[in-house]
Amino acid sequence: MAQQFPSLSTEQKKELAEIALKIVAPGKGILAADESTGTMGKRLQNIKVENNEENRRYFRELLFTSGANMSNSIGGVIFFHETLYQKASSGKSFPQVIKDQGIVVGIKVDKGTAGLNGTDGETTTQGLDGLSERCAQYKKDGCDFAKWRCVLKISDSCPSALGIAENANVLARYASICQQNGLVPIVEPEILPDGDHDLQRCQYVTEKVLAAVYKALSDHHVYLEGTLLKPNMVTAGHSCAKKFTPQEVAMATVTALRRTVPAAVPGICFLSGGQSEEEASLNLNAINQVSLHRPWKLTFSYGRALQASTLAAWQGKTTNKAAAQDVFCKRAKINGLASKGEYKASGSADQGAMQSLHTTNYVY
Ligand code: 13P
Repeated sequence: MAQQFPSLSTEQKKELAEIALKIVAPGKGILAADESTGTMGKRLQNIKVENNEENRRYFRELLFTSGANMSNSIGGVIFFHETLYQKASSGKSFPQVIKDQGIVVGIKVDKGTAGLNGTDGETTTQGLDGLSERCAQYKKDGCDFAKWRCVLKISDSCPSALGIAENANVLARYASICQQNGLVPIVEPEILPDGDHDLQRCQYVTEKVLAAVYKALSDHHVYLEGTLLKPNMVTAGHSCAKKFTPQEVAMATVTALRRTVPAAVPGICFLSGGQSEEEASLNLNAINQVSLHRPWKLTFSYGRALQASTLAAWQGKTTNKAAAQDVFCKRAKINGLASKGEYKASGSADQGAMQSLHTTNYVY
């Protein structure tokens, strides 16, 4: 029988639990601004802006200095390594700019996916080597949480038992290492929306994946109160002919989570996964209106669905900066309201906010 030997002290647990609660304080969610250099390049290419260090820095500064409306709705920002060591034009480091607004600084620590040989194109996620040392350094450099993304896909044969077990285990190992170094791990088992499967199939797979993740977290003695989950919402595949309402998505999502995620987990922060900005907000709002007991905070950790119309408004022009910041603050505010089930759509969301942000086989 398993036996637990001491790992985290009472003080360490208290710190982790407090960080997690601060990130998902009422009405707040996470801005995922941790696009790798390559992914950021694709975003910039769409608006014909060169992918160089200064342009990446400029855009992140635009987001991070957008004002009080941002800090009212954003509890945590996830950085990519490069951004953590960049400065705002005021000379202040980016982590300090974020902390000064009462927002928690996070860092992506995985090193991307690698193929699982002999499977139908399934992957695991790399980055465990040296992770403890990197986490210790990131903690010193101002980070209080981390993110690690695992990717699973749905097809007739996927995810396989190996895909589920391997990704659950690597997430648990990562989470354990983060906690030893004072970082709250965001556990992200993303099930891609690629495919023509229906809502029920996604719900079934999501339940199996999350059940395996929480078994692995238990096996690795991860302190659940000091973690956050970042799952996909339960949605039909992108090419599914049948369309489902936000209420149907919400019921399937909350049902899957209630069956698999312990109440000790303080917050569940959804990824947007290629949904349009408005769709991601409406679905989150509906999730927070489901009339079933929901013991965790249900909020957002959006990348694409928080930045797409801001990038479009900016177009790489200094003269558009203030307008782009307004767009970002508006989107952050809408999602803050949705995280409380209080977003009332006006029906006049602009075209950009309605546009699908889906990319097949998305790499972050
Ligand atoms: P999207 O919201 O764009 O899916 O990305 C969030 C994220 O951080 C994925 O790891």
